[in-house]
Amino acid sequence: MAASKQGSTELMSDVKKPLEIAIVGGGIIGGFAAATLSRLPNSKVSLFEKAEGPREAGAWIALTEAALLTLSRIANIEEVQEFVYRGKPEPLSRRHWKTGEVLKYDTSSFPRPENFVQARTHRVPLHNFVLKHVPEGVIKYNHAVVKIDVDISGGTLHFENQDPVRADLIVAADGIYSRIRRQFRVNENLEYKGVVAYRYVFDENLLKDVHGVLDDTSSWMGRDGTSVFLGKVGLQKYGFVALIPEPPNVASDLAWNRSAGQRGISHLLHYFQEWDPLITKIINVLPDILAFPLERAPWLHDLTIGDRIVFAGDAAHPTSGVYAVGSSMGFDDIWALYRALSETSTKSTNDDSDEETKYNLPLSLFLFNETRKHFLQRVERQTFIDGEVKRKYLNVAKDDADWQRRLLNTLGGLDWVKEHNVELEYQKVRDEHFLKIYT
Ligand SMILES: Cc1cc2nc3c(=O)[nH]c(=O)nc-3n(C[C@H](O)[C@H](O)[C@H](O)COP(=O)(O)OP(=O)(O)OC[C@H]3O[C@@H](n4cnc5c(N)ncnc54)[C@H](O)[C@@H]3O)c2cc1C
Repeated sequence: MAASKQGSTELMSDVKKPLEIAIVGGGIIGGFAAATLSRLPNSKVSLFEKAEGPREAGAWIALTEAALLTLSRIANIEEVQEFVYRGKPEPLSRRHWKTGEVLKYDTSSFPRPENFVQARTHRVPLHNFVLKHVPEGVIKYNHAVVKIDVDISGGTLHFENQDPVRADLIVAADGIYSRIRRQFRVNENLEYKGVVAYRYVFDENLLKDVHGVLDDTSSWMGRDGTSVFLGKVGLQKYGFVALIPEPPNVASDLAWNRSAGQRGISHLLHYFQEWDPLITKIINVLPDILAFPLERAPWLHDLTIGDRIVFAGDAAHPTSGVYAVGSSMGFDDIWALYRALSETSTKSTNDDSDEETKYNLPLSLFLFNETRKHFLQRVERQTFIDGEVKRKYLNVAKDDADWQRRLLNTLGGLDWVKEHNVELEYQKVRDEHFLKIYT
């Protein structure tokens, strides 16, 4: 057998003991983590979710090229097609807010097989699909984690109503309001971003008497930054999303993922009365509307703590609804972690059997962090740059024609975010640190 790897033998899991991984949070990303990390040999994965079962509510989710690629690493991409919808002729049409004229089609940066082109779905089938790949017995519902302690030999999860549990590695995937993140970053609060998302997914047949419904997925873009997304989202469902700049007093009257009721629908009808009339026709058939006052907190610049805790998904990059890449960034966090744990394990470096595989947490968490943090910091920076672009470039357009020209210029980028390939990013990091892994 080759010699053990650099400076970390004492933190490798014992040969006879599997690596115990505890995941906190059973959302889309926690579920993906459970499905992916359960593939590691000589490991035992448990997922603790505070709810009594999977959430039944949900809204429109765009699956970017990056999300589809990473999903395909653990699942048959053909099966994903059963619950998504791709608009024609291109996956997304950008339209003028008033005339409805197509200003631009969003396409992939190069021709891809159809299964890997961005598509729309909604949270419930995506969540169910991810959970289908989690081995039985891994998920423990009704387990609300209140605190985590870390020491030299591992971490302890403390629960609201159960006995504490020990683990070698803890994956915090407990969402934007992550209690674990706030435990370690006590002075950081979420702040309102100035925009409320109004979202609802409903049965397509409610539109049967609405004239002029389009078969594509469209986004109507307004001059003040308001936008509306309409389109099929798979499984005979139709999705409505409106992103509206709202003053803080309006936002504070609304609760995250709660119905804004008839008042909300009346507000939308009033707000969009001057827009393309198709929008108000569709608002008129909405059975309800959910409100999401969008919030953000600073993203983690290091996604690990003490070689024992890893943050993933919205817990790590807490900005609601950024570039429609929330799920892909979370999937990619987990894929980077899986690759780093696999490649630094003795199964890879020494050719040990599955039963004898040992893990090198310091080295794998280092590779994971290097793979993710530079990209995530760049995406977060872009969100601030885009704010500046809006203020100093878009908002100073002198008339509608000038605004359209400027808008088209702003819509020319972001493929580097939506088509990010985390596997290539991981390989870049492992190539740089090859000798640390294999000698
Ligand atoms: C308006 C809007 C539009 C969006 N559009 C898109 C889009 O088009 N495409 C896209 O990819 N993403 C989109 N997103 C983002 C996407 O929804 C999120 O990134 C994704 O759902 C995050 O998943 P998560 O598993 O990290 O967090 P969550 O889904 O929040 O899951 C966290 C889980 O942790 C559990 N939990 C919390 N605390 C504890 C605890 N203490 N103990 C145990 N369990 C706990 C919760 O019950 C929950 O099940 C959008 C978001 C918003 C708000």
